[in-house]
Amino acid sequence: MAYDFDLFVIGAGSGGVRAARFAAGFGAKVAVAESRYLGGTCVNVGCVPKKLLVYGAHVADELEQAAGYGWTLEEGHFDWGTLIANKNREIERLNGIYRNLLVNSGVTLLQGHARMTGAHEVEVEGQRYSAANILIATGGWPQVPDIPGKELAITSNEAFYLKQLPRRVLVVGGGYIAVEFAGIFQGLGADTTLLYRGDLFLRGFDGSVRKHLKEELEKRGLDLQFNADIQRIDQQADGSLKATLKDGRELVADCVFYATGRRPMLDNLGLENTAVELDERGYIRVDDLYRTTEPSVFALGDVIGRVQLTPVALAEGMAVARHLFKPDQYRAVDYQNIPTAVFSQPPIGTVGLTEEQALAAGHKVQVFESRFRAMKLTLTDLQEKTLMKLVVDAETDKVLGCHMVGPDAGEIIQGLGIALKAGATKQQFDETIGVHPTAAEEFVTMRTATR
Ligand code: FAD
Ligand code: NDP
Repeated sequence: MAYDFDLFVIGAGSGGVRAARFAAGFGAKVAVAESRYLGGTCVNVGCVPKKLLVYGAHVADELEQAAGYGWTLEEGHFDWGTLIANKNREIERLNGIYRNLLVNSGVTLLQGHARMTGAHEVEVEGQRYSAANILIATGGWPQVPDIPGKELAITSNEAFYLKQLPRRVLVVGGGYIAVEFAGIFQGLGADTTLLYRGDLFLRGFDGSVRKHLKEELEKRGLDLQFNADIQRIDQQADGSLKATLKDGRELVADCVFYATGRRPMLDNLGLENTAVELDERGYIRVDDLYRTTEPSVFALGDVIGRVQLTPVALAEGMAVARHLFKPDQYRAVDYQNIPTAVFSQPPIGTVGLTEEQALAAGHKVQVFESRFRAMKLTLTDLQEKTLMKLVVDAETDKVLGCHMVGPDAGEIIQGLGIALKAGATKQQFDETIGVHPTAAEEFVTMRTATR
């Protein structure tokens, strides 16, 4: 049977655009439907605007350090409206680039919500299209727990478009987004409290990293409250928000920001018209080739809930395009040793196993750990410490994990990701000549095991 398209992609986010462009490049007839914004979460309400706001907040650090380097600055003034307007202009530019990328690679771009009406059929704005293959790349959406007053809270989606910087913010959650936004709000001058329901935030990250970041954030004056969770939110007569905690305490703020995870975006997708099944966590179930339980339907990225990072969605998009249209070039995505950064202030960079994971996996572990004050701070009054840590298999000498908290951690960890992928040993780290004077050289000069 002749179909309208070889591949119909639902969602023009990180994974969808990558799969569509490469499939078209391999000669396939491809359509993409996008209901909201080109480039998806990452470009519009994720990585990109977040990093721009992090840069904005970081300027405060530079200003604080300036005096030590002989600069006398007049009292600075921060204008949220200017930052948001400039950020919006950049996002619009990127939206245009995504449009051109798709159109120039021959992809048919359809604006509107897409709903599957069958295993080979998608409906967009009342028009039905047939396709040999359908790819669900619909991403995720913030999830706020069902508490009284939840409609008074905002999520990352709204935070990027706030009209004003709130004076007092309560950030709820202990994952990537909570920690990053707590740094943004506080860095830009808001009185910020982070509430996390457990003993220590960033569950799953290395224990030393979590403790070190806690100490550094507290040094910066961030109000960290662990074992704390909100029971209800009420609006007060003056417009402020009163959060009543489960332990009975009451906190007042102008903004309550929830970052308590994301759910797969499956709204009105028409799954019921196909044999696509969900896994026990509610994400779309796929096999190793991203095929769902409906053989003509594939899924990737945040909607399958494996690793919710843009470079992973990109790699999965590439894998699907190659599998379907260039099988001789197919390479499976390697989910081991994925480097990642949390753009907190200071940021975290990490790749490989944490000390806890290495021990749990049965490795005999040697740990090399270093804490130091970065050279840049020596002419200033700032006492911030950088943490670097290597987790090594004592029997094979293989480096299992690299972890860092400190300036440029994300930039530094990318190169170490290559070393781990290549299976580098501690001896090879030691034999690598450092770049001097940098913070990064510490990763190749830690000689004595801490434990
Ligand atoms: P998305 O990029 O979410 O794209 C899905 C697209 O599908 C959207 O455009 C949506 O509008 C569209 N869509 C949904 N349903 C339909 C439908 N039925 N019809 C038509 N279109 C539809 N990752 C990093 O690697 N680094 C970071 O620094 C980082 N920062 C982040 C910060 C925040 C605040 C958030 C929320 C996420 C961040 N991420 C980061 C995660 C990253 O954004 C996601 O992992 C990535 O965008 C997932 O890509 P995707 O293709 O699966 O989905
Ligand atoms: P995460 O899953 O990372 O963190 C969610 C946090 O919310 C956890 O601390 C969790 O606690 C807590 N939580 C969950 N449910 C509740 C609840 N009902 N009440 C109170 N607390 C709750 O999600 P995020 O929203 O921070 O980010 C989503 C994903 O997006 C990330 O996992 C990451 O993959 C990606 N991302 C990547 C970034 C980057 O690369 N720099 C930046 C931002 C996002 P607990 O640990 O106890 O379960």
